[in-house]
Parts: sequence; structure tokens; C-alpha cells
Amino acid sequence: MNKTKIMLDENDIPKKWYNIQADLKTPLDPPLNPKTKKPIGPDDLNAIFPMGLIKQEVSRERYIPIPEEVREIYRIWRPTPLYRARRLEKALKTPAKIYYKWEGVSPPGSHKPNSAVAQAYYNMKAGIERVVTETGAGQWGSALAFASQIFDLKCRVYMVKCSYEQKPYRRVLIESWGAEVFPSPTKLTKVGREMLKKDPNTSGSLGISISEAVEDAATHENTNYALGSVLNHVVLHQTIIGLELKKQFELIDKYPDIIVGCVGGGSNFSGACFPFVRDKLIGKKPDLKIVSVEPLACPTLTKGEYRYDFGDSIGLTPLLKMHTLGHTFVPAAIHAGGLRYHGDSPLLSKLTKEGYMEAVAYYQNEVFEAAELFARTEGFVVAPETAHAVKATIDFAKMCKRKNEKKVILFANSGHGHFDLSAYDAYHNHKIQDYQHPKEHIKKALTDIPKV
Ligand SMILES: *Cc1c(COP(=O)(O)O)cnc(C)c1O
Repeated sequence: MNKTKIMLDENDIPKKWYNIQADLKTPLDPPLNPKTKKPIGPDDLNAIFPMGLIKQEVSRERYIPIPEEVREIYRIWRPTPLYRARRLEKALKTPAKIYYKWEGVSPPGSHKPNSAVAQAYYNMKAGIERVVTETGAGQWGSALAFASQIFDLKCRVYMVKCSYEQKPYRRVLIESWGAEVFPSPTKLTKVGREMLKKDPNTSGSLGISISEAVEDAATHENTNYALGSVLNHVVLHQTIIGLELKKQFELIDKYPDIIVGCVGGGSNFSGACFPFVRDKLIGKKPDLKIVSVEPLACPTLTKGEYRYDFGDSIGLTPLLKMHTLGHTFVPAAIHAGGLRYHGDSPLLSKLTKEGYMEAVAYYQNEVFEAAELFARTEGFVVAPETAHAVKATIDFAKMCKRKNEKKVILFANSGHGHFDLSAYDAYHNHKIQDYQHPKEHIKKALTDIPKV
């Protein structure tokens, strides 16, 4: 049967998330308290996270049940379709078979609500009344706003000031779902006021916004902080993508040879590939190739170092062992805002360090060129972040053509680009600059990392 999309039934939505910590050869290095350099315990995290999520963060259980209330909300858009990209294959004249898992069908338009809904649920269960977070381009902020109103939580989003001003539509989306959103730095927090005193015209940064949100959560009763990527519990929630994928590939009696995805903090790609990485870890699929894709302007996995660093740029969070460019590293203002992060998921970092996964990096223009070919063949206009995965997929498909190999290539299609059309417009008008971060900047930021 030559299906275009491989669909599952609502009842096929997985009942458990997959926790790869159960299958690691050696345990993850623990997060450290930056002052004592000793591992932090659950109590240290309890000031800003609910216990339900802290338990998931450190759990070594292989499968963790998805609460029925969360599955109920997932039904709005899950299971998501798996597509065969037949017209793209034809355009490339490749013998490879290309598949993509489409997360753009969720209300906020990306994979992010897979975790936002779970996080809002556990906060509600813990009696929390209000959640706060930061957002760069607005994808995570809109996902948390959507999830919060479902579970009757108040939600506040500190949105990086330049995005707040340049990308009004994600802000309007956040407000439409009933959340508050402020251009950060604000006068509402101590960190924000200090920043504004130093530079009243600052355009803000993700690091400052994280600091504002963390301070807000730590200083308000019944308020917690929520993070949209990087942490183990976020990656855990996203494994719903990969678990559905396994069922979908079983339906067509196939298994991918190459799995590709874009990596900002690592949540969508880890979620899509970890159930397959398990097969590699247990020796069932030793030849499976798993490839992260990142921008050359923020080459965390390809040029960063694997060591302890802060999660934010000011130095408030615990130290995490991960690939990092240094927490003071400020990437160029590329259009793939969701990929501008100095660090990466500790789980994805460890698996990359140990050789189970690899990474490649690309320039902006070649990425948009690939996304446009995808739009003209498959129809979907993907997010600039996702476009990185499209570019790598096309390159592998071309390699298959040269070698006449019929490989099965799967890529994680993390979201649509309907709020990023100004970036496509800039591409059409030849206004996109290719940017590779100078080696000296990376070297400099790496010297700012605390010694452990
Ligand atoms: C946020 C985002 C990303 C990057 O974040 P990850 O945690 O690496 O997945 C990628 N694609 C889309 C569409 C996003 O919204």
C-alpha cells in the first residue's frame, strides 16, 4: 500500500512516556549546586518545580505512566501523522524513502505543548495557582499559555523585548489564551530593574528573561517556574513523538536507517529519536544513524565542549553537564530563534559524547533554500528551526542518490512557520546573512565557565 500519511487512532496514544535514563550504560552526571559544587537534591528544586516533575527529572524507571487527564488533552491533536515525502523524493530523484513526523498540527503549532500540558497538569495537581516562564520567539510562551488555561492556572510570560516588538503575533496568541506577557527586562523583578538601570534601551536576552521568571517564581506564593526544553522531564514528555513513530513504522513494516532533527535545547529531537536510540543502546540496531542539526551561528554540539555550565546566562541555575558554548555566549540574531541556546539537553549531550548520536551544522541561506523546496513539494511551510532538519534530510537523500542506496530517512518536523513569514520574506529579498560564529568568541565564552 502506497500511503501518503500513516495515521494512528486516538486510542493508540501511548499510555507511558519512555525514560532513556533506564537504558544508559552509565548514569547521567548529576546537576551541581554552583556554590558547593555538590549534587543538588530534590529539595533544592522544590522552590520552583512541583514534586511530580522533580521525580521524573531523576527517575530511572524505563516507562512512566501518562496521566489520563493529560492523554485527554493530547487527543485534541495526537496522534500526529507520519508522512511519506514522495514529491520531495521525486524532485531530488533519490532512491531514498523520506518520512517526516508532523508536530505542526497542535494548537500552538509545534511539539512544545507535549510538555507544556504535562507541566501545567503536575503544577495544578500540586496546588500551584500560577506558572511563569520566559520565551524568545514566543513558541514556548504560547504553548504554556495554551496549557495553563486548560488547567485553570494563571500564566505570566517574560518575552525577550526585541521579539515582543518584532514578532507581535505570538504575543497576541499568548494573550488570546489568557496569559500575561511583558517585554523583558521589566520593572516587575529586581533583576529586570537592575538591567534597565544599566541600559534603559536594552533589547533583552533569553538569559535575562529566564532570570526574571526564576526570580518571580521564587518570590511569589503558589507560583512555579516552567522550562520548555533541556531538562530530563521535558525530554521525557516529548518521547510521545518517538513512541507513536515506532507504532507507525510497525504499521508499514519499516524501520528508519537515518533519523534527523533540529536541536535548540534538544527536546523535540530527543523525544522523536530516544525510543529508537534505545534499540541502539541495547545492541538491536547498531548501524542506525542519528543526526542532530544546528545553526553554524550557534554550534553547540559541533563546536562546544562537554562540561558543567549554567543553564541561564546570569548564573542562577544549577550547573548541568552538557555541550555548551559558555553561558555568556551570545549568538547572532538568526531567524531560527529557538536554536539560539548556549547549552543542550544533558541526555542528548551524553549520548552524543558517547557516539550514539552525531551532529552537523548549516548556514541560514542553505537552510531556507531547503525549506522552500520542501514547501514547493510537500506543501508545508516549516518553522526556521525545523528547516535545519529539512536541509540535512535533503543532503542525506542526495547522498543516497550518489551511492544508489534505498535508505529510509526520517526527520522530526517540529512545527509550522506561519508566524515566521517575515523570515521567509527576508530570504526572498536576499536579506539573510550567513553567519558563522568567530572561533575567538567561542573561546572567550568557554573561559567564563566555572571550574568544577
Ligand atoms: C522551540 C522549537 C525548537 C527547538 O527546541 P528543542 O527543545 O530543541 O526542540 C525546534 N522547533 C520548533 C518548531 C520549536 O518551536
